[in-house]
Amino acid sequence: MKQQYDLLIIGGGMAGASLALALRHSGLRIAVVEAVASDASQQPSYDARAIALSHGSQRILDGMGLWQAMAAETVTPIRRIQVSDRGHFGRVRIDATEEQVDALGYVVEAAVLGRVLQPALQEQAGIALYCPAQLQSLEQHSEGVHVTVQCNDELCELSARLLVAADGGNSTVASLLGGRYLSRGYGQSAIIANVVGEREHDNMAHERFTDSGPLALLPNRAPGWMAGSEAGDCRWSLVWTVRDAQLEHTLALDDADFLAALQQRLGRRIGRILSTGPRSAYPLRLRYLHDHVQQRVVFVGNAAHTIHPVAGQGLNLGLRDVAALSEVIEQAAGRGEDIGSSAVLAEYKHWRRPDYLRVMAMTDSLARGFASNLLPLVVARNLGMVGMDLLPPLRRVLTRQMMGLNGRQSRLARGA
Ligand SMILES: Cc1cc2nc3c(=O)[nH]c(=O)nc-3n(C[C@H](O)[C@H](O)[C@H](O)COP(=O)(O)OP(=O)(O)OC[C@H]3O[C@@H](n4cnc5c(N)ncnc54)[C@H](O)[C@@H]3O)c2cc1C
Repeated sequence: MKQQYDLLIIGGGMAGASLALALRHSGLRIAVVEAVASDASQQPSYDARAIALSHGSQRILDGMGLWQAMAAETVTPIRRIQVSDRGHFGRVRIDATEEQVDALGYVVEAAVLGRVLQPALQEQAGIALYCPAQLQSLEQHSEGVHVTVQCNDELCELSARLLVAADGGNSTVASLLGGRYLSRGYGQSAIIANVVGEREHDNMAHERFTDSGPLALLPNRAPGWMAGSEAGDCRWSLVWTVRDAQLEHTLALDDADFLAALQQRLGRRIGRILSTGPRSAYPLRLRYLHDHVQQRVVFVGNAAHTIHPVAGQGLNLGLRDVAALSEVIEQAAGRGEDIGSSAVLAEYKHWRRPDYLRVMAMTDSLARGFASNLLPLVVARNLGMVGMDLLPPLRRVLTRQMMGLNGRQSRLARGA
């Protein structure tokens, strides 16, 4: 079977599905190729992790007409964030009221994003979905790209003017094209679990730096939450970074020992943690594709940049890719231009690069700088935190970064 499209998206995870949906009214012929069936229990994008979506990401999803459906599921506003350094004096407190917004961001489970994005994608008559389907080969030509895709027992040949790789941190597209990555392992893994505390979270998120790595507690109401329901407002999503050497031991602890170890890391600032749900782990690394724009190919989301989850920036960065790329594509299509031309793609590349560098520098320096016990570094970072806590203009730079509002904003993020 041979098919011709304007835009071919490889990967129907959070970034790929969002991009297809952002362009659903553009009149472009769009196809999405996704490797894993939507009902498969091992769908890697829409798993149990809780995602802190920034204020800017919420606006992007709202602009795409998707936020209402997410809010109708369970989303939890983050109204305050407290950043602290375990065993030291520094802390920073960030409050939504300072920015005159209702929330700095929202906690949404990845599975909830999947429950909204996947049916929306399947229901779009104008978007062809190849799923489950495996990308086999890819050729770039001056006029377009050609791919072969194994879909069930059939080999399909698909062509498009532009291919977007949204196939995650182990991108097949990057492998096929010999992509060059900046790569760094952290020697750390993130353990995630939902825990219930004795006190209500009061919509406060905690980011606590420890010598094994950062530990985040995100306020996260239980699915189907109702005011006053049991444990509804005492539930947190934990992202606990441990050294790889500690991972096996920490995962193997029984619940009581796991809670005791967690409590020891956290101290008593949120009271006692009473129970934990199942745990799972993710290896952590930095991976940045140098050439994220190539001839008729653009990489977005984790396929372009996989970063440390400290400060919850990864998907937010990916959604800013989606908002910027959909804007550039729609404008080019509106002018009757070729959406995969080098001029159109160069505009996207120059738009996104400063944001990548800013977020990578921030997450990488937080992940490494706060894991060190070197006295001069400890003193410097704690003085920095105190300064930020006391000086609103300094704190505002951090707040706006966490809210996804630094740098050039897309039309979707501006609500225009
Ligand atoms: C522990 C943890 C906590 C995190 N917390 C946050 C947070 O609070 N806030 C935040 O913004 N981000 C967070 N992130 C980052 C966020 O999860 C990722 O940035 C996001 O999932 C990336 O989405 P993606 O669609 O780019 O890639 P993926 O989610 O990896 O999706 C890729 C998709 O492509 C498909 N695919 C792969 N290969 C192929 C192929 N060859 N052909 C077709 N399809 C293919 C896959 O099946 C998948 O559906 C966290 C990450 C971790 C590990």
